[in-house]
Amino acid sequence: MKTQRPKLNAERMARLVEISRVLNATTNLSHLLSRIISEAAELTQAEAASILLLDPKTQQLHFKASSNEVPPEMADMAVSLDDSIAGAILTQNKPMYIKDVSKDPRWNQNVDDAIAFRTRSILGVPMHNVGQEPMGVLEALNKRGGGDFSVQDFETLSILADIAGVAVEQARLFTELQQANAELNELDQLKTDFIAIASHELRTPLSVILGYVSFLRDEAGPEMTAQFDNVLQAAVHLRTLIQDMLNLRYVDAGTTSLTRTRADLITLVRNMNLERDETAVAKEQTVHVNLPNDKLLVVVDEDVMEVIIGNLLNNAVKFTPRSGRIEIKVERQGREAWFRIKDSGIGVPEDQLERIFKRFYQVESPLRRQHEGMGLGLSIAKELVELHDGRIWAESSNKEGSEFIIALRLELPPTGLL
Ligand code: ADP
Repeated sequence: MKTQRPKLNAERMARLVEISRVLNATTNLSHLLSRIISEAAELTQAEAASILLLDPKTQQLHFKASSNEVPPEMADMAVSLDDSIAGAILTQNKPMYIKDVSKDPRWNQNVDDAIAFRTRSILGVPMHNVGQEPMGVLEALNKRGGGDFSVQDFETLSILADIAGVAVEQARLFTELQQANAELNELDQLKTDFIAIASHELRTPLSVILGYVSFLRDEAGPEMTAQFDNVLQAAVHLRTLIQDMLNLRYVDAGTTSLTRTRADLITLVRNMNLERDETAVAKEQTVHVNLPNDKLLVVVDEDVMEVIIGNLLNNAVKFTPRSGRIEIKVERQGREAWFRIKDSGIGVPEDQLERIFKRFYQVESPLRRQHEGMGLGLSIAKELVELHDGRIWAESSNKEGSEFIIALRLELPPTGLL
């Protein structure tokens, strides 16, 4: 084979450019290999073509595709590097033209037998990965019409092998990425399931503790109240953490987790009995719920709405001192229903009013460090409100506590009147 490279004609060059574009856009490895094979046979006017890829672990070559029908047992047939033509092309990292394979001791008749094909001649070139390491061999078999392969054929096959090597590596990486992604998704699902199961299982024993401690606190004398309050507080804190973990499942599942129906927001809030929230009662706080008499129809997942409102109430109770006041209101504002919850607590600095809705964000101040939590409640509430196409925001002045407002689109009758 001459070392001086002949010029390819413009038509072949254009064809190779087009092939390069197609190959680089093909991410399915087996489609890619079949495409390379058929292009190799077509461009060199060969009766058949094949690809052998190097397995880096075993350091053997494997048939990956052939333009003839490759029986399944052949597709995985290993070809040793030491005593095969393809092995010689790869290890010596140079093209070879064997005009008559029957005279070459490295020729392996088994392959022909397996695919019922008679190989006369092989034009083979190494394929390289991006790092220029040989990673496989591309072979054109038997020039059509019985003639010899030309120098142009060799040049064309070499260029095709270069394009193919990069494309194969790319497709392999793509497949690996897809696999890694699938594994990650599976792990993520396992984690979500684990959190859901664990938090669910923790709830039952915790309610037993909460129930008994409240009972014992009332039964025991006043000298024990402070101790029981501590236990109660810790148990309530634990309950909030568990609830946050449980609620993550709604957010992670997106809109698919919602079962939205037409519901009256006022009835929904009334049925939650927020005035009797046991944590607020334990802190001797007053929860005042102000509901209008008419109906405010919204399309919501009622369980999820309860989670959102529950989170806001938890915060109001947590960030409001003993004997504080919490005002809850539902009202119509134009074409929206607004749920408002205002507390007389420590408030939120104005520049943090938006940031507190980010996952794990907590306003830092020595005063607040006494309040435990994971910084999840508001982010969950926001994500869930947005799944309902609603809005949530906070208003606050440090002195007068804070107010959280949820706005949901009203379901109005066609006349526009309720
Ligand atoms: P967590 O309450 O677990 O810290 P949240 O996401 O519910 O997490 O709240 C984030 C932060 O927003 C809180 O840590 C607190 O700093 C602030 N915050 C939330 N609600 C109130 C409230 N009603 N009054 C004052 N600060 C609040």
